[in-house]
Amino acid sequence: MDARIPGFYKLSVAERREAVADHCDLSEEAVSAISGGLDDTRADAISENVIGTIEYPLGIATNFQIDGDDRLIPMAVEETSVVAAASYGARMARPTGGFTTNVSGPVMIAQIQAVDVDDPHAAKVRILEHADELIEAANAEDPTLVEHGGGCRNVEVRVVDTARGAMVVTHLIVDVRDAMGGNAVNSMAEALAPRIEDLTGGDVLLRILSNLADRRLARATATIEPESLTDDDSELSGEEVRDRIVDAWAFAAADPYRAATHNKGIMNGIDAVATATFNDWRAIEAGAHAYASMGGYGPLTSYEVDADGNLACSIEVPIQVGTVGGATQLQPTAQAAMEILDVESADELAGVFAAVGLAQNYAGLRALVSEGIQTGHMNLHAKNIAIQAGASGDLVDEVAERMVAEDAIRQDRAEELIDELS
Ligand code: NAD
Repeated sequence: MDARIPGFYKLSVAERREAVADHCDLSEEAVSAISGGLDDTRADAISENVIGTIEYPLGIATNFQIDGDDRLIPMAVEETSVVAAASYGARMARPTGGFTTNVSGPVMIAQIQAVDVDDPHAAKVRILEHADELIEAANAEDPTLVEHGGGCRNVEVRVVDTARGAMVVTHLIVDVRDAMGGNAVNSMAEALAPRIEDLTGGDVLLRILSNLADRRLARATATIEPESLTDDDSELSGEEVRDRIVDAWAFAAADPYRAATHNKGIMNGIDAVATATFNDWRAIEAGAHAYASMGGYGPLTSYEVDADGNLACSIEVPIQVGTVGGATQLQPTAQAAMEILDVESADELAGVFAAVGLAQNYAGLRALVSEGIQTGHMNLHAKNIAIQAGASGDLVDEVAERMVAEDAIRQDRAEELIDELS
């Protein structure tokens, strides 16, 4: 499969669908699910008080080469220019072989909070003395997970000083294999609560996973040659753009106001793949920002100049995603997205998320340090403004093209053009 599809963006929606079906050798069900959606019965099972469904555009980021394999990336997002930037970012990495990923393993943490413990430090030791028994009891809760090679691996205990006194917090370290694991680890934590009360002599309150999934890290690296960072129209050399990207990273590393937006640029890509695959993006968001704050809030990516003068790009981010479980298998379009991605495990999927987050981030930074993001963004956003101003049918393109040509992409100009052209 070749993830380079030159001129993909110029095709009609139907032609793009056909091209992806060809490239990924999609099943008939997947092809029809891409333009279909959730029926009422499934929607009603996934959430509550359901009255309908809401659609997102499903786009495909091209050009990705991840661990030697070309991949097309399904992305569902309501923001203009995210998919274009990811594709552009992935293209910049191709001359040097694309992205290399590495994932620490699908390990989640469940927390059991015990309060009113008279001897918290001794209680910690008592829990650890019974670790094997606790692991066995946790695994008895999920024989299917154990059959798939997962299960509770370890028990760790912390005494946490709080405004309400010392609390004994037990962590279950659980290999959740191809699941996101929220339900799996919560069930284990709930099942162990009575035994933790026996062992601590206190009361157990919360029993739930931690979204600070720092045992489930996805990493990706890419090398960008300076010539890939500029084009013939640019006033800046590739080396200048490269150095400015490193300056932008240093700014984010020194200033949380900037780091928040830097990381938002990463999450633009990660959340879009999470949405397309019906994964829990709130969990991923919570984990990413909590991880980013572990040493004081900072950027999840790094940019340096390597010995050959190339831009060395890297990311490390907790990615808690599943290829099974949760709602991932209930949405036919998300299942088609999984067929397009063609990954075999949650770990492989996590590596894809990291690569997309990295590409998204440096593509955004490249624009920010050179022409600024508004030119590209507003050109792509022009159609939205035309629709917002009341255009429909062919008028949408006509009004958008005129506004781009005039460099006046504004609602008031769209309204004037609608009057003039209709
Ligand atoms: P799940 O319970 O639907 O599926 C997981 C189960 O699938 C496993 O426990 C196992 O029994 C089975 N399974 C079958 N094949 C497997 C394989 N190859 N690998 C692993 N397990 C396999 O879902 P889940 O992943 O435990 O939980 C995900 C859900 O939890 C999401 O919907 C998420 O929104 C929700 N959730 C999240 C939070 C949070 O993030 N704070 C809290 C509660 C619930």
